Amino acid sequence: MPELPEVEGVVRQIRPVSIGKRIVSVDVSDTIRKSKQSGKEAILKRIEADDFQERLTGSQILAVERRSKYIYMTMKNEQEFLLVNHLGMSGAWFFVDSLLAIPEDKFRRHVHVVLTLDDGNLLAFSDIRRFGEMRVLETEADFPPLLLMAPEPFADEALEWFLQQSGSPKFRNKPIKEVIMDGTVISGCGNIYATEALFRMKIHPKRAASRISRKRKIELFQAIAAILLESIDAGGSTISDYRNINGESGSMQNRFGMYGKKVCTICGTETKTVKIASRASVYCPSCQK
Ligand SMILES: [Zn+2]
Repeated sequence: MPELPEVEGVVRQIRPVSIGKRIVSVDVSDTIRKSKQSGKEAILKRIEADDFQERLTGSQILAVERRSKYIYMTMKNEQEFLLVNHLGMSGAWFFVDSLLAIPEDKFRRHVHVVLTLDDGNLLAFSDIRRFGEMRVLETEADFPPLLLMAPEPFADEALEWFLQQSGSPKFRNKPIKEVIMDGTVISGCGNIYATEALFRMKIHPKRAASRISRKRKIELFQAIAAILLESIDAGGSTISDYRNINGESGSMQNRFGMYGKKVCTICGTETKTVKIASRASVYCPSCQK
């Protein structure tokens, strides 16, 4: 599942090829139309396919940014609005001159939204599992969860925010892994990077937040930010379906010490898996206390 580094990679690639471009046409797949007719709201949230097409057609892309795991595209038609996209489990954007140019068949078969730009290129959104989301918003406030997100992990205020939140009554007695994966505590740290950061810090994922000293919490926060940056530099992690807009995989998965491992990469002990916040959490029972 794409986390912050993968989304950042996509944004950095979409930005130079799309800013200033106008969308001349919009296609929405029949699968999405049928899903909406049956009330399932796949991908297009709170907007009908026809309205989505109408709203975006003719609009100009002014900015492409990332906030946590969301892609924010600032659009302008008569007035400015936001196209906010979450990649979900397997969403991927491809920048191609025709849909046939999408590198792998599994992605080609699941293209659900196509934005045709005025230079003739396409921004095609493929989503194998259809957990991705697109919203057309006048402002962020139209989708309140966006307002509850923690500061960006690289922002100056993020550490203080993390210390406050993780010490609050809501989180202090929860397992640290659940706390750092909560987007209102730290932005953009999902299962993969939470697993890796706790392994590097030798902290057991079930340890209560309140049982970690302030000093260790600061180090943990710094480890998370460092791993996220390392992964951005490595082009993100490709576990199964993440690809960048040219169809390439990331390489951060080759540097994992714990995520997806059967034995600890430091001491060789068999790893264990516990469920925390309904996600499988891998850890080393010998290294992580
Ligand atoms: Zn170990």
